[in-house]
Amino acid sequence: MAILPNQSKITPSKRLLAWGSAAPVRFTENEDLWDFEIVMSAGDNCSASGCTLARAFFPDSGRHDLMLYPKMFEQSRKEQVETWMHEIGHIFGLRHFFATVTETAWPAEIFGSHDKFSIMNYGALSTLTERDKKDLVRLYEQAWSGALTHINGTPIQFFLPYHKLAPEPIHVPGLELASTALQQRGSYYSTSSIRVK
Ligand SMILES: [Zn+2]
Repeated sequence: MAILPNQSKITPSKRLLAWGSAAPVRFTENEDLWDFEIVMSAGDNCSASGCTLARAFFPDSGRHDLMLYPKMFEQSRKEQVETWMHEIGHIFGLRHFFATVTETAWPAEIFGSHDKFSIMNYGALSTLTERDKKDLVRLYEQAWSGALTHINGTPIQFFLPYHKLAPEPIHVPGLELASTALQQRGSYYSTSSIRVK
């Protein structure tokens, strides 16, 4: 796992488990049929309003990067772990606490408690709470069981992850070099998830 600087004391695998038993899906490392890769950006992404620490994606059937910026590793360990959990929250389909107020260009619905102290908020308010975990468990349990099909009238949409759709790769000796080159770029994870559209 050469992609993270030395000051990172915990591995991505451990960080992926930070939601604990509330995590609706498991992540497994798979170098061929990966759904996302963890990529360390060579440079920071800063603007007048600050620097991006990490960037994730919402669940769909594509392949994605979970991008980490060097600036993230200048933060306290607590801030790093919370940033990680926040990004994983996006991969589970969660939007920001303030999405229905300041990010209305993209559809979002409120599910469960809407407390400002949430890992999906920003800054000092961003902390993983028992309510966050309970709501996430309830969302996935009810959606997967079919009990919950809509939230405030918006339908819940399920996606098959890339690794379920892609054909098994054929191993040809001549492709080994390309495979090695890919492995050096990042770590590859498979997941399955839903997006509250
Ligand atoms: Zn975010």
